[in-house]
Amino acid sequence: MVVSLIASGLVRMRGWRGVSERERPYDRALQLGLDRLAAVCALAGVPAPRGVSDLVWGWSATRPLDGWPLVFEADAQVGGELLLIGGEPSEFCLEWSVEALDVVAEVHESTLVSQVKTGAEQAGRPDLYAEWRKFATSHAVLDPGEFLAAKNRFLAVPQWASWLDDSYEPISPISMWLGQIAVCGQCGQWMVPARGSGWLCESPRCLRAVDARDPVLREAAGGYRLRAELVRFVALPGRPELALAAALASRGARVVLYPGLDALDLVARWPDGYAIGVDVKDWRKPYLLARNIKKFPGWGTGHPFSYKDGFVVVPADRVARNRGYCDIVRRHSSALRGQPHIKVLTDEALIARCPDTGRAGEVVCGA
Ligand SMILES: [Zn+2]
Repeated sequence: MVVSLIASGLVRMRGWRGVSERERPYDRALQLGLDRLAAVCALAGVPAPRGVSDLVWGWSATRPLDGWPLVFEADAQVGGELLLIGGEPSEFCLEWSVEALDVVAEVHESTLVSQVKTGAEQAGRPDLYAEWRKFATSHAVLDPGEFLAAKNRFLAVPQWASWLDDSYEPISPISMWLGQIAVCGQCGQWMVPARGSGWLCESPRCLRAVDARDPVLREAAGGYRLRAELVRFVALPGRPELALAAALASRGARVVLYPGLDALDLVARWPDGYAIGVDVKDWRKPYLLARNIKKFPGWGTGHPFSYKDGFVVVPADRVARNRGYCDIVRRHSSALRGQPHIKVLTDEALIARCPDTGRAGEVVCGA
C-alpha cells in the first residue's frame, strides 16, 4: 500500500507530461504515502524521508525499492527498481500505481477511452470503439492528408472525427528536428529529438532496449502525433494485441478485435468452429499483472463471440528475461483461481498450439 500510494502520487503529478515542473504542489497520495513510510521507518529505527520533496527526489529517484525499509514478497521482484527514472515515473512505478484502486479509472481508462466507448455504444456503432483503438495503435504520426482522410472515414458518425481530434495533437516545432519527426523502429511510436543529436524513444521498453533499430524519419510540417497518454495506455499495449491478431489470422482464423466493447482483447475462430478468447497482458512485473487479470466473459454457445478456450497471453520476450514469470502470475491471481479453465502462456506458445488451415483468415473490429 505504501508503494502504491507513492507510485500513484508520482503518476498523477506528472499530469501525463512529466514531473518537470518541480514547483507544482505535490499530490495528496504522496503525503499519505510519506506518513505511512515514516511510521514504518520509525518501527525499523531508520531515518525517514525529510518531507515529500525528499521522498520524490531523494528516495524515489535514487534509491531502489529493495533499499527501502519495506517487506515485499519475493515474487514482487523489487530488486534494483526505481520509481522515478530521469524525472519520469518508471514502468515499475506505473504498474504499481494501478494497484491503488481509485487511480485505475484515471490511469487505465483515460477520459477519452471511456468517452469513445460510451459514444460508440450510443451511436449504435460499438465496432467503432475497436476501430479507434486499432487506428490509434497503428498510427503514431499522420501527415495533414492522412489525418483528414482518417477523420472522414465514418462520415455517418460525426463523433468519429472529434475522437480523432482529441486523440492527436499538432507536432510542435520543439518535437521536430530539421522539419522532421522520427518514428521508433522498435515500438512504432514517435520519438523526441535528443539533446546532443539523434532521436530518443521514451517508451519504457525502448529506454532499456539494447538492440535499437533505426528510426523512420517523416516530414513533420503540418502533421499530427498521437497524444502521449494514448501512446502509453492505448498504442503500446495495443501493439502485441494487433501482432497476435495478425499471427492468428495468418493461420486461418477470423479474429475479432476488442469484442463486447473491450470485454476481451480478441476472439479467434477457425472455419471448423473452434474458437479461443484472449487477453494480452504486456506487463513488466508478473506479480502486478496477476492482480489485474479480469474475469473472462462467459459467452455461451450461439453467441457471436463464444469461445472454447480462454488465455491470458504474455509477450514471449517478457518471459525470456524473467524465468518463472507465468508461474508467478498463476500463484498470485485470484481471478485465475476463480476461472481455472483460463491458461497463462506466451504469445509464441499460443500461436504454436493453434490450428493452421494453411489459408489466410482476417482481422475484423468487434462490436
Ligand atoms: Zn520505441
